[in-house]
Amino acid sequence: MSLQFFNTLTRRKEPFEPIHPGQARMYTCGPTVYNHAHIGNFRTYVFEDLLRRHLKVKGHRVTHVMNITDVEDKIIREACARGIELDQGDALNPPERIPLDEVTEPFLAAFHDDRRALRIEDAESYPRATRYIPQMVALIRKLMEKGLCYESEGSIYFSIQRFPRYGCLSGHRLDSMKAGARVDQDEYEKDDARDFVLWKGRREGEAFWKTELGEGRPGWHIECSAMAMEILGESFDIHCGGEDNIFPHHENEIAQSECATGKRFVNYWLHSRHLMVEGKKMAKSEGNFFTLRDLIDKGHDAITIRFALARQHYRDSLNFTFEGLKAAGEERRRWTDLLLRLEEITAPGAVSESLRDAVANSDREIEAALDEDLNTPQAIAHLHELTTEANRRIDSGEMTAAESAAVVGVFRKWDSVFAVLPEGRGSLDAEIEALIEERLAARKSRNFARADQIRNDLAARGIILEDTAQGTRWKRG
Ligand code: AMP
Ligand code: ZN
Repeated sequence: MSLQFFNTLTRRKEPFEPIHPGQARMYTCGPTVYNHAHIGNFRTYVFEDLLRRHLKVKGHRVTHVMNITDVEDKIIREACARGIELDQGDALNPPERIPLDEVTEPFLAAFHDDRRALRIEDAESYPRATRYIPQMVALIRKLMEKGLCYESEGSIYFSIQRFPRYGCLSGHRLDSMKAGARVDQDEYEKDDARDFVLWKGRREGEAFWKTELGEGRPGWHIECSAMAMEILGESFDIHCGGEDNIFPHHENEIAQSECATGKRFVNYWLHSRHLMVEGKKMAKSEGNFFTLRDLIDKGHDAITIRFALARQHYRDSLNFTFEGLKAAGEERRRWTDLLLRLEEITAPGAVSESLRDAVANSDREIEAALDEDLNTPQAIAHLHELTTEANRRIDSGEMTAAESAAVVGVFRKWDSVFAVLPEGRGSLDAEIEALIEERLAARKSRNFARADQIRNDLAARGIILEDTAQGTRWKRG
């Protein structure tokens, strides 16, 4: 079966046909670096990572661009509070460092640390908005030359009435009563289509660049269009984000990009549903969020968090709960325990026909599930079926080393998408050794309950601990 995605633009599933066969070019809206990303943001980034990894399994060469929004109201407010000088200089000759970096760089570094902890692969490019001001200015000038913008009090607005397809992504209909109504904020209400700001004229106390458009700074929407087209070209394959990006952000990106070039901007728009907490979107403004660091400090494991985010389909809502996290940990443990058992098998003999069929079926079904708009829960269910079948064969003493390798092969292949297994035998051992260390520390601090729990958990995985005068040894029982 061919790879297909649900396209927000057409509201249906469509086969994926890249513009250049064998190459997938995608742009995903990245973090605003004024704070730590929360795990709601990471739900979207993990979905995008699963997508890029599956595209690679399907043989596409992926060029993935994720922008970093490093100029924005909250960043500027913070810079002002710290008394940072806000003249960013001449946009046409960008300096190496700019004053706003002092606020954004620690959060940018933290974002990369967090995403690596979640095994989110490196994108090919992480453009920072502040380094693409000349491209944004050029794009705005192009729109001005075409008569699609107007100026007011030093700011430049895009006139949405000039783009007849406005609303094509969000289904939003232009309300003629609102013609000419405009908005300066980058985010606004869903039922409120308005002319949006491309360039914000300099205001007292705000960061600004000196440009051909005058002193000021870019609006949020133009940032993504300018960076996406600069790096990926005027038309590319996939654009992603969380569902809140559909309107106004992505709708506005389409309007300004397609008006500037006269070409289709993006062919496939993919959006993930929000991570919720008690029925509400997890958001900084709601104060109902956890960062990855919060959860790791509470003793949760980053890879289990990745799995908890990945095991729900990206277009289904996902409610964050600690029970959900625990369940994800237990499911993952089934796989790591099976791998431990499989690695112990040394029995000689060929691969039986029935095992070959079981493995081939699983492989086919997992691929078909992921091909169908990245159906991760279905693919995971197939891996669980294979786990049950492999355990049954090991229990009845049927499994040979060659068969074990065939089963491991399926897990490793699909872990190139899920990325939740220990990375090879050595790391399984390292996981056990880390638990032994933790048990020793727990005993030293007289936390015997934790020490016993670790011993029992390991025993349940077939790992027996022996406390000797030389220290603790372990063996497989
Ligand atoms: P922001 O830093 O707010 O611009 O968000 C960065 C990305 O995270 C965007 O793609 C958002 O759509 C996405 N996002 C924000 N909140 C959530 C959430 N609760 N669940 C899933 N994605 C989210
Ligand atoms: Zn964006």
